[in-house]
Amino acid sequence: MQIDIVTIFPEMLEGPLKGSIIGRAREKGIIKINLHNLRDYAYNKHRSVDDYPYGGGPGMVMKPEPFFCVLEKLDYLHSNNPILLMTPQGEVFNQKLAQEFATFEKMAILCGHYEGIDERVRKIVTHEISIGDYVLTGGEIPALAVVDAVSRLLPGVLGDDQSAREDSFQDGLLEHPHFTRPREYKGMKVPDILLSGNHAEIARWRKKEKFKRTLERRPELLKKLSLNEEDKQLLLQAEKELKKGD
Ligand code: SAM
Repeated sequence: MQIDIVTIFPEMLEGPLKGSIIGRAREKGIIKINLHNLRDYAYNKHRSVDDYPYGGGPGMVMKPEPFFCVLEKLDYLHSNNPILLMTPQGEVFNQKLAQEFATFEKMAILCGHYEGIDERVRKIVTHEISIGDYVLTGGEIPALAVVDAVSRLLPGVLGDDQSAREDSFQDGLLEHPHFTRPREYKGMKVPDILLSGNHAEIARWRKKEKFKRTLERRPELLKKLSLNEEDKQLLLQAEKELKKGD
């Protein structure tokens, strides 16, 4: 997959995109991430990318022309590929959107700064994305969150592709708890079932624990699920165990 990030501060993104799992995926060629400096597309006398707001008021507004130019140059304007505008006013990013974006060969992410971006840029974006109800200084950190969440869904990026499939939100539930060695630590024991070697029982236990976690922390997620008979039984069991305080 190719991800084109448009920013006036590419240096903010270079370091984080070099490290860890994303850095390795780039080296392996699974993801190609291009950083485009918006200033290279400001064809005015001073190469300025921002200007005073019409009507007055504080702060500067990012000009529309460089965004149109960069997207034209990168062949996004007449394609079906997603063009994301990072904005606190957008749809709140979630795993479902990450899954949707991961199906494309190519996507662009536009990072704003200052007071934001000229309203006319909204006409050429396909998605306006927020990472939550708070305001950051720029779209670079939100862009990193999107790139990270999308990249880890691409085949070959994680050591074991199964691990992304079992993550929280993938199937609409929070993930079950995890344990590793030692078997007992400061009096806290690993549940016996996980040591039983019975894979079918372990899978049932994990599903029930997913229901418990979701009931406790994000019960609203359960309303969106369609459950089969076995799931309904496990959900009932999870409810009972929670009531008992297990
Ligand atoms: N004046 C704008 C408003 O009130 O909606 C906020 C502008 S913010 C200071 C500057 C830029 O940071 C935005 O254009 C956007 O690209 C980015 N940004 C800030 N918070 C964000 C969030 N929660 N999600 C996505 N992008 C955000």
